[in-house]
Amino acid sequence: MEFVSTRSDALRTTAAGAILRGLAPDGGLYLPDEVPSFSLEEIRAMGAMPYPALAAKVLERFLPGFTPEELREYTARAYASFDTDAVVPLHALKDGVWTLELFHGPTCAFKDLALQILPYLLAASVKKCGDDHTVAILVATSGDTGKAALAGFADVPGTKIGVFYPHGGVSDIQRAQMVTQEGDNVLVLAVEGNFDDAQTGVKRIFSDVDLAVELEGYGVALSSANSINWGRLAPQIAYYYAAYARLAADGAIQAGDKVDFSVPTGNFGDILAGYLAKKSGLPVGRLICASNSNNVLTDFLRTGVYDKNRPFLKTMSPSMDILVSSNLERLLYLVTGDHAQVAAWMEELRASGRYDVGSKWFARLREEGFEAYFADEAETARTIRAVWEEQAYLADPHTACALSAARQDRAGAGERIPCVALSTASPFKFAAAMLSSLGKAVPESGFDAQDALAALSGESIPAPLGSLRTKKERFPGVVSPADMRAAVREWLEK
Ligand SMILES: *Cc1c(COP(=O)(O)O)cnc(C)c1O
Repeated sequence: MEFVSTRSDALRTTAAGAILRGLAPDGGLYLPDEVPSFSLEEIRAMGAMPYPALAAKVLERFLPGFTPEELREYTARAYASFDTDAVVPLHALKDGVWTLELFHGPTCAFKDLALQILPYLLAASVKKCGDDHTVAILVATSGDTGKAALAGFADVPGTKIGVFYPHGGVSDIQRAQMVTQEGDNVLVLAVEGNFDDAQTGVKRIFSDVDLAVELEGYGVALSSANSINWGRLAPQIAYYYAAYARLAADGAIQAGDKVDFSVPTGNFGDILAGYLAKKSGLPVGRLICASNSNNVLTDFLRTGVYDKNRPFLKTMSPSMDILVSSNLERLLYLVTGDHAQVAAWMEELRASGRYDVGSKWFARLREEGFEAYFADEAETARTIRAVWEEQAYLADPHTACALSAARQDRAGAGERIPCVALSTASPFKFAAAMLSSLGKAVPESGFDAQDALAALSGESIPAPLGSLRTKKERFPGVVSPADMRAAVREWLEK
């Protein structure tokens, strides 16, 4: 198995090469040139495996060149930081719907599943590619990704992690999560301006040739940890297998029965992992793509026309506020197998913000089992309230979009096969939105809102969020975009 770019066949590399590079040199995304497969017997056996062993088993096939021993070591270390032995527990709701809770990691959101293991994969990839640089990861963040990357890379040998967030542009809690980060290889800075200013500053640093030469002198190479990296996607395939194997082991389904998955979607990474699980043999029925009011994917999967020329809406599920879903490019390639066609659509998207896959490819796409729904703000709030009042379950706003989509799908289908809704964040991360959806008063401070949500629900605030108020602030600094380069240089020359 080799890795190819979605946009051409010429640039083949290994799994380690794909992880080290992130983006292919032609601007495309890496994919394996064949999808591995698991037998039903193997899937059934996963029901008895602890999550780290199961994840290593799945990764072995998607990361050729990494040994089983290496992968078992990385998954054991990565998932030891989760607050439950199950790592990704299933919670049964009514009517054949479950939530798969992906928020039990150190930052209480699903990106931990990938970002806790990526540092090990990246550090190993550097060695496998015959390189001996320290890899310095730079991230511009609007909140969640920055913290998840910090938590993953902190104190991992051979790596450094630098995060830039917009000054005044993240919530109290998100800021507290980042500026209190521990670890000797960490830098966190606020940037004057908005998220775009921080992002543009980071991109400028990546393309600064003089700086790269200077950093080379210190033995440092820059890299990114964004969600298009194969090393972030591959670990997400494992929890689809885990959910299915658990349902089979518990007798909720017979091994071989189909299960639907409803996935709250932003950059299309999580749901694409579900598609790869399906392609590699997991008996998946429908893959339900759940969006918020930024419903560009709902429209695409219903019409075959992708059109980002529309207002960007701020919602209570901010991690899904996205108009360009990068990982969709991977689906287009997996369905068409046509590099030139994918490259042409991506060029249309760049030039005009729109492309139309045409009736032939649209029909093929629908055959793959994708359904799409969205929940606007009122529907998200209604879902949060209904799930709490009727089933005593707190679903965060992202999870609520997935539960709403599952409900809409089942209402239409009449068919009721089991459905697993992916639950991507702790409700305590979005306490203010939870309270207002539940019709309660919303305190001004994020911490007071967490207390109010805990009092109302009788649930306790997850430890990584609860401990923030007493943690020491390590990174109070604010820089202008023009000074980001100097700050990075000074940090890395040490
Ligand atoms: C990132 C994120 C999503 C969306 O995942 P994608 O892989 O970008 O589709 C959903 N919910 C939460 C809480 C997230 O952080």
